This record gives sequence, structure tokens and C-alpha cells, in this order.
Amino acid sequence: VSTQELLLSRIRDVPDYPKPGVLFKDITPLLADPQAFTALTEALAELCVRHGATKIVGLEARGFILAAPVAVHAGIGFIPVRKAGKLPGATLSQAYELEYGTAEIEVHAEDLAAGDRVMVIDDVLATGGTAEASLELIRRAGAEVAGVAVLMELGFLAGRNRLEPALRGAPLEAL
Ligand code: IMP
Repeated sequence: VSTQELLLSRIRDVPDYPKPGVLFKDITPLLADPQAFTALTEALAELCVRHGATKIVGLEARGFILAAPVAVHAGIGFIPVRKAGKLPGATLSQAYELEYGTAEIEVHAEDLAAGDRVMVIDDVLATGGTAEASLELIRRAGAEVAGVAVLMELGFLAGRNRLEPALRGAPLEAL
């Protein structure tokens, strides 16, 4: 089987989670399968190297699980982008719109600087709001965006369209 088929076979659809009408893509079976998790790590690391990343941003929380082994495998530093209030040092914050209300993400200001090329990693691109906010943070820190890489893109939510202006030509890669 191809890597794509292997990964797809380890993603579980959970109906009506976290609320009625939502079909949640659960990656925990993939994480529990070392062959699939290794294949995913290698594929994401290859994208980071191909796009010239010098830093890897993981988006809390499932993005951390994927980005950390990718960073080690690729030999590139890992930078956490967290929900507001979790990082102890001086931070940059970015608020963004959710379906109901707003959310806010943060990065340590000292973790990104001019000259960095940053790849953003997460498990799922849904509406694209979270990834879009992370690109704002990266640029406000003075760094450059190498791209966004996700395991899965939920095409019907058109996150790619929402993200496109913020990408400014950088690639969005969905395995
Ligand atoms: P967005 O901001 O709407 O693109 O939502 C993306 C964020 O929500 C990511 O950090 C994902 O981890 C999470 N997310 C949204 N839908 C799913 C899903 O079906 N499975 C797992 N995570 C999801």
C-alpha cells in the first residue's frame, strides 16, 4: 500500500463529535501504529527540508504530537504555538474568529526572528482559521513563511481558499 493509503486507513471517523452533525477525524489510531506514525513523520520532514524550513511551528495540541518528531527527524528546531495564557515568556498574540466567538494563539517572541523560514505543522486543516492566525504571528515576528503542512485537509470547508491570501505564494501541503 502507498503511504497515503496507509495513513488514510489509520484515521478514524467519529460521528457527532465534538457536537451533533460534525464528523471528527481522529488520528489516535495512526499515532498508535509505529509504521504509520513513522511514515507520517518522514513525509512531513521531507516537506520541511524540500521547502527550506529553518524552524518548525507546531499548533497546539495535536500539531505538537506531529511536529515534535518531525523536528527531531529533520534536525530543525521546534517552536510551540499555544493557546493564549500557556507560554511563560514574552509573547506575541493573534486573535481569530471561530464559528462562535474568538480564539487566541501565542508564540514566544524570542523564538522567531528575521531570517527564519518557518513551516507550520498541524493534523487537520478545517476552516483554515488557526493556520491563518499562525502565519500572522510568524510574519509579525519578522520571520518568513516556508509553508503549511498538514496530515489532512477537509476540502469541503474550503480552508485552502481562506488561507491563500495569508500564504502569499507559500505552499499548503496536505498529505
Ligand atoms: P480550523 O482553524 O477550522 O482550520 O481548525 C483546525 C484546528 O482544529 C486544528 O488545530 C485541528 O487540530 C482542529 N480540528 C478541526 N477539525 C478536526 C478534526 O476533524 N479532527 C481533528 N482535529 C480537528
